[in-house]
Amino acid sequence: MRIFWIKVSRFKALTLVFVFLAAAMFLFWKNQVLPVFWMYSPLAGKTIVIDPGHGGIDGGTYHKDGTLEKHINLSVAIKLKRVLERSGAKVVMTRTKDESLDYKNNKSKSRHKRDLIARVDIINEVNPDVYLSLHVNAERNSPATRGPMVFYYRTSEESRRLAELIQARLEEVYKSAGQEVRKRKPYANSSLFLLCNAKPPGVIIEMGFMTNATDRKLLQNAEFQNKIASAIELALREYF
Ligand SMILES: [Zn+2]
Repeated sequence: MRIFWIKVSRFKALTLVFVFLAAAMFLFWKNQVLPVFWMYSPLAGKTIVIDPGHGGIDGGTYHKDGTLEKHINLSVAIKLKRVLERSGAKVVMTRTKDESLDYKNNKSKSRHKRDLIARVDIINEVNPDVYLSLHVNAERNSPATRGPMVFYYRTSEESRRLAELIQARLEEVYKSAGQEVRKRKPYANSSLFLLCNAKPPGVIIEMGFMTNATDRKLLQNAEFQNKIASAIELALREYF
């Protein structure tokens, strides 16, 4: 057959039509459908910094079976990013790979301090609507201690509200996995470097305990990590 003046086979013509239709459908979805959906999403247009704690030389807390906190933090962070972007949020990560951030500045002699300063700098530069710092807890003397704990800066009313919502939603995730964890109030803090120096509202989320065998197993499970990500997204919807 002929398309204009070019002679093509029927197969080629059909392929061409198909590609054209697929492109048109994609553009329609991207430019017409998604913006309408985002109009009704409380997360649309919000900027969120996700800070996966530790990385590189700094493994965070650990277990002798080889489990490292830094990997869990990043794994949940990547899932959370995906969920938030799907809801129309703009997400900035302090790290997207297994690295420490101390190389980003020269503001302290301590490597650990430089790493924390780098995270604070990113948060303050991006100036998001909220930031979320993801961590795993440890309590060496009490292996029975478990469940999520959320920290906020003592005088930030916004952060406290966000912390309460996330704490409640995370407890539900444990409950839905058949785990009874005790109810907690989020913790007011005025000494953690990140909370003291980051200007926008935000929280440190200790997702569970490395030192508790059940928590440790759950936190490494991809399905459970997805549930944590969805729970945080839900809490953010309520917050906004
Ligand atoms: Zn940590």
